[in-house]
Amino acid sequence: MRYADLHLHTYHSDGTRSPREVIDVAREHGIEIVAISDHDNIAAFFEIKSHADERGVTLIPAIELSCGFEGVDVHVLAYAFDATDERIEERLRGFRESRHRRGFAMVDRLRSLGYDITTQRVDELAAGGAMGRPHVARALVEKGYVSSVAEAFDTLIGVGKPGYVEKERFRIDEAVALIRSAGGVTSIAHPSHYPNHFELVPRLLDHGLDGIEVFHPDVPDEDRERYTNLARFRNCMVTGGSDDHGKVKTTETLGTVKVPENLIGAILERM
Ligand code: AMP
Ligand code: FE
Ligand code: FE
Ligand code: ZN
Repeated sequence: MRYADLHLHTYHSDGTRSPREVIDVAREHGIEIVAISDHDNIAAFFEIKSHADERGVTLIPAIELSCGFEGVDVHVLAYAFDATDERIEERLRGFRESRHRRGFAMVDRLRSLGYDITTQRVDELAAGGAMGRPHVARALVEKGYVSSVAEAFDTLIGVGKPGYVEKERFRIDEAVALIRSAGGVTSIAHPSHYPNHFELVPRLLDHGLDGIEVFHPDVPDEDRERYTNLARFRNCMVTGGSDDHGKVKTTETLGTVKVPENLIGAILERM
């Protein structure tokens, strides 16, 4: 039996690990099926495909998309689509550009509040990938304004805090249609994160989402049981992953979630 981690971030979005490190650390934990699901970026797949092959790791094309649904920010994981699909790449490029503008707008706002961080530094931390709030948070930590990325979110850049700026989001129907048309499937990321999620998740399934991420560090046992039952009842798949971001978050989670391959046949059969 092989094991999978289907939710991982690298420095191509807001994680700190390289794609190579993700593959190697996953392998050390006995994980042989990996999906690197950077926000709005599939660069890691192309960068590391041949290394994954050499290490005997099955690498699944993946992304995590920020979608808007009934005013809620819902993260959608997409898997096993055609990674060379031009429409996906074009759409992702647009999102990365708007993330960049938004990151700079957050720096401007923070500077006007007296926090002396620079767009140059945030740009460097994003390293050409999908810029996100964690990059702004790291710039604030470096300058000593906060003691951790988590504190930056709690006090300055979380939703409703003074340095927060909205970001562009996919409409859920567009995201589902785009991924489907490129041969892929979608899953609702970390369902327990959303307000009123027990009501929200079934409605998301009505919009064509193919699965629910029931194995995730932030999904407690009772939610996992409930969503596993819902998936069975609705005839959709279950997925799971560690959502590791490396050193951005207080704990590195790579290795803590291992999904048996027999549960993710719907993804593997598309490979
Ligand atoms: P963004 O997509 O730019 O709005 O940033 C959201 C990202 O920030 C999420 O994908 C998480 O990786 C990260 N994040 C959210 N809350 C926290 C937190 N409290 N501490 C560290 N990282 C966080
Ligand atoms: Fe993230
Ligand atoms: Fe997420
Ligand atoms: Zn994630």
